[in-house]
This record gives sequence, C-alpha cells and structure tokens, in this order.
Amino acid sequence: MTYKSGRHFLQIPGPTNVPERVLLAMARPTIDHRGPDFAELGLSVLAGIKGVFKTEHPVVIFPASGTGAWEAALVNTLSPGDKVLMFETGQFATLWKSLAENLGLEIDLVPGDWRTGVDAAAGEDRPTADAGHTIKAVCAVHNETSTGVTSDIAAVRAAMDAASHPALLMVDTISSLACMDYRHDEWGVDVTVSGSQKGLMLPPGLSFTAVNPKSLAAAEASGFRKSYWRWAEMLSANEKGFFPYTPATNLLYGLKEALDMLNEEGLDYVFARHARHGEATRRAVRAWGLELWCANEAEYSSSLTAVLMPDGRDADDFRKVVLDNFDMSLGSGLGRVAGKVFRIGHLGDFNDLTLGGTLVGVEMGLRLFGLDNAGGGVDAAMDYLTGTRMR
Ligand SMILES: *Cc1c(COP(=O)(O)O)cnc(C)c1O
Repeated sequence: MTYKSGRHFLQIPGPTNVPERVLLAMARPTIDHRGPDFAELGLSVLAGIKGVFKTEHPVVIFPASGTGAWEAALVNTLSPGDKVLMFETGQFATLWKSLAENLGLEIDLVPGDWRTGVDAAAGEDRPTADAGHTIKAVCAVHNETSTGVTSDIAAVRAAMDAASHPALLMVDTISSLACMDYRHDEWGVDVTVSGSQKGLMLPPGLSFTAVNPKSLAAAEASGFRKSYWRWAEMLSANEKGFFPYTPATNLLYGLKEALDMLNEEGLDYVFARHARHGEATRRAVRAWGLELWCANEAEYSSSLTAVLMPDGRDADDFRKVVLDNFDMSLGSGLGRVAGKVFRIGHLGDFNDLTLGGTLVGVEMGLRLFGLDNAGGGVDAAMDYLTGTRMR
C-alpha cells in the first residue's frame, strides 16, 4: 500500500473525526482505577456528562458500544415477556427491536416508511388502547442515523401523558447527543441511551445510560437476570468516582477533554453549528439535482444527510468512486435502503472548511460517476455559509 498524503475524510455519521485535543488527552499512562487519582477523573466525568444530557440524575458509563447501552436500558428496567412499544423509523430502530426480541421482550411495532420520524399519534393511540397497562416501555430513536430523520421526543412524551400511561420512555440519542438539543429531564425521558463515537468526538468504546428516579424504581422490580449491566453496583461505586470493574480509563481522559471543549464552545453554539452545516448540505444536495431522503422538513437531521441516488445508480458504487479518488468515506445505505442512499456525516468536530472539503469530494465524485448535471452544490453551500457567518 502506498502512502496517502493529506488526511482521510471520515464523513460517515459515526465514528466521527477525533480532534487532536482529545487524542492527546488520551495519550497518557493508564492509572490504577482503584487509586486516589482515578476518583478525581471519575467524579469529574460523571458530573460533567450530566450537562450534555441536561439531567440532574446519574448517567451510567459503560465500557461498551452503543448497543451495550441499548441492552442495559432494557435489562435493568424490564422483565422477560414485557411488552415494549417501538417505532420503525429506520435501521437503528429495527436493530434495537431485534435486540429486544432476542432478550425475550414482546414488541408492539408501529410501522414506518423510514422517511419520517416517530408517529406520535400512534404513541398516544396505542397506550390509550392499553387500558391494562401491559406496555411497560416506549422506545424511540431521537436521530435515525440510517435515514437522517429526527423525531420529536417532547411530542412522544406529550402523547404518553395524554394517554395517562405509566410506561417508561426510553430514547436512543447515540447520533444526536451533543449535536442537537436534547433534554432528558425536561422531556421526561426515563432512560436515555448514547455512545462516545459520534457527537461526543471520542473513539468508540463508551456508552451511556441516563436514568431517573422512575427508571431506578423500575430497576428494583426488574425480573431480568444480568450482572455486567446492573446499574445498582455501578451507581454505588460511582458515588465515590469509582467503577465496579475496570473502566475504559483512557477514554475517560478523552471524555473529560471533550466535555471541556463542548463547554468552551457552548452547547447552544454547538447545536447551531450543526444545524447550519445540515442546511448548507441540503442546499448542496438540491443544487446537485438529487433528492433528500428525509421527507419532512421539520425532521431534518443536523448530524447527517441521507441522499437518494437517481434510479438505476448504485449508491455504493458511487461511494467507492469517492473513496478511491478522494480518500473520503461516506456512509452507506443500511438495511432497506442499502445501495439506494448514501449518507454525509456532518457531526462532531467540524467547521465550514471541513464541510466545504466534504461537499467538494461529493461533487467531484458525482462528476466522475457520470452525473454530469450535478454541479453547483458547493456554490450553493458557500453562498449559505458566507451569508450566515457565526461568531
Ligand atoms: C451508531 C448508532 C447505534 C449503534 O451504536 P454502536 O456503538 O455501533 O453499538 C445505535 N443507534 C444509533 C441511532 C446510532 O447512530
């Protein structure tokens, strides 16, 4: 293999580009996780992460991929055979559903077309019809990373409240946390699941479950057997900054740095930055004459944009052209939309020129791919970016 000069553009919607500050923060000797220095690190990140979830309640940090947190949310609060209401918004919602089925939960699925978000009306109707309260949890994905569609979580909460239903509300924010506004406490979410490798700008390997008094009470009554995922041991060790088993110490150094960076920039600014890059990308896509996969303007994702390829053209062939020629990785279509869409990640550590380079790579790729009319997208994005300077 020959050396490829310049940096690789990792424009998939996670894992995202890890900034130098985070890389350097992690380049330290691993310390004794039962020693006094560790407690300081532990207490600092356990307190700091609450701000990103907008919660005053504990956030449990597992050494795991996001999938681990999906499982932890379910096995801590539910019992085998319990009914769970889920929404088919895309591939990640589908994977969470399969995981729940594997655990022996019964799924009440609200079908979807993958181009729109959670059907909040069904989120009211089904709980209303469930007079016996057999539904124990309602699970929703805040940002569907397979489709670039966001769901209105406050509306799901309002729907459950309108039905006066006591089920737990669980939300996956793996690709929205630290990209789009999210409010664990204010929106009445009982368990929020997230991961390190997307908006938090860390390598893969940490996952999170934010809890609250209601989900902790449910945990006391849970009939699932578990050990590694048990919140109880975690929470008691966390009180003094420790973990019941070896934590991912160096990733926690990185997390501390990432939290500092998010706070220095300001979360509201971070959200506005993501929204602006999302809009610039959509303008480019329209100028290229391509179709946005997300069908509802109110649900456009700030983290990524999924783009529909013209009929008869394979999105994976296009991604290969971009990778081979410009050393840029774009996201593939997943599940039902494999080969039909490609995804542009614009989340994490990102600025106007990162987006500019990304869009130039896509536009040049479209030309090489023979979509000769596809010009002007970069210009459209530049017009928007220069017209909406931030700070
Ligand atoms: C990335 C992602 C996951 C899966 O996380 P892993 O870390 O790969 O286990 C789940 N849900 C959403 C919305 C994601 O974006």
